[in-house]
Amino acid sequence: MQEFLQRTLAWLVALVVLGLGLWGALGAVTALVGVLVGLVLWLSFHLYHLALLLRWLRNPQAERVPDGFGSWHVVFMSLYAQVRSQNQSKRKLTSALERFINAGEAMPDGVVVLDEHDRIEWLNPMAVEHLGLDRKQDIGNQILNLIRQPAFHSYMREESYSQPLTLRFAQPRETVLSVQLVPFDSTRKLLLTRDITQFERVQTVHRDFVANVSHELRTPLTVIGGFLETFAEMPDADAATLQQFLPMMLEQSRRMQSLVEDLLTLSRLENSAKLQAEKVDMDELMETLRVEAEGLSKGRHTIVVQKDTPRWLWGNPGELHSAFGNLVSNAVRYTPEGGTITLRWRTDGERLVFSVSDTGIGIPREHLPRLTERFYRVDRGRSRGNGGTGLGLAIVKHVLARHRARLDIQSEPDRGSTFSVQFCPEESADPERR
Ligand code: ADP
Repeated sequence: MQEFLQRTLAWLVALVVLGLGLWGALGAVTALVGVLVGLVLWLSFHLYHLALLLRWLRNPQAERVPDGFGSWHVVFMSLYAQVRSQNQSKRKLTSALERFINAGEAMPDGVVVLDEHDRIEWLNPMAVEHLGLDRKQDIGNQILNLIRQPAFHSYMREESYSQPLTLRFAQPRETVLSVQLVPFDSTRKLLLTRDITQFERVQTVHRDFVANVSHELRTPLTVIGGFLETFAEMPDADAATLQQFLPMMLEQSRRMQSLVEDLLTLSRLENSAKLQAEKVDMDELMETLRVEAEGLSKGRHTIVVQKDTPRWLWGNPGELHSAFGNLVSNAVRYTPEGGTITLRWRTDGERLVFSVSDTGIGIPREHLPRLTERFYRVDRGRSRGNGGTGLGLAIVKHVLARHRARLDIQSEPDRGSTFSVQFCPEESADPERR
């Protein structure tokens, strides 16, 4: 500004000096004409630059600011500097806004921005997925018209949003959402949604598991407690009477012991991070399983062993023994006297397969998908009666998952079952194939 005034004043002073010079040398009339011509030139100069300014204002881009002369050069330079700094801050703001929008779009939780009348202003893709909204059509619509659940309506009305609300949806698939409103900007609200379906499922499994374990332990404890109370009431009981009860108490305590052992095995499997694998001698393992089957069967069944594949398997010997042992023990326990149990170690195409077949009671088809769930039994009484804990196949499932193997169950009621464990070709311990 100061430079502009200085330059303008310098022009005026020059004009006055010119006028005075002309007056002294050529007389008053010449001086007047000279000053007049000077003023007209001066005015044209400013009018020309004003026209340049007006033209630029119609399309004000920094790179098109005119150059200008003299004082106008100063004006245009400062205009140029201002437009550039404005453009820069605009660019910064735009990119900050873009970053915020991108962050909102990428968020794993749903975000809906609501205006003062609870109409949707903006929403991210996760909110679309969680709430089944349409990103184009639902903008501007009232959220209460789109989420019809009464619990959500009361939550919106209460206006105390410190706690999230749990909403359950049956369509298009079963989902549980945690929904929370966060007021901001004095009138607007953020609606945040989080999918907690998996978390709820884990909680339910956990609750069921604790209830099942307590139930399984309560029965033997009640029996043992009952006997002990009876003993306490008859201090003079003779040895023969005590002998009558002791085997029953022993059976119940063994039941608790197997349950606790199976629970510890499951917990070890769940907590041990990496599989400690080594070469497993399948000849040796098959022989151990045969001896164990004979021991459990006590001569009531025919035990057959068949092997027609490489001797070595890559895995954890203890875990594989535990899984295969469970399958063998089930075959013995669910096969009536006189039946046959066949243990096989064979190759099926590319895969190595361990299987246990029996000619036992079999399993109705509808139970097959749930057999490996903890405490799932086809016939509760029968399983408990023959010492089952309901955890055997859950242990098998865990061990196989750690060995990247698959369990296949074929069964027909009253005809028998075959449980096959299929290993990937890479699990063979043959160095050529690893
Ligand atoms: P359990 O300790 O009850 O045997 P498992 O997890 O080993 O528990 O097996 C789950 C259920 O699967 C058993 O209760 C039984 O009903 C069924 N089952 C397992 N193996 C056999 C089999 N070989 N024949 C018939 N039913 C079986």
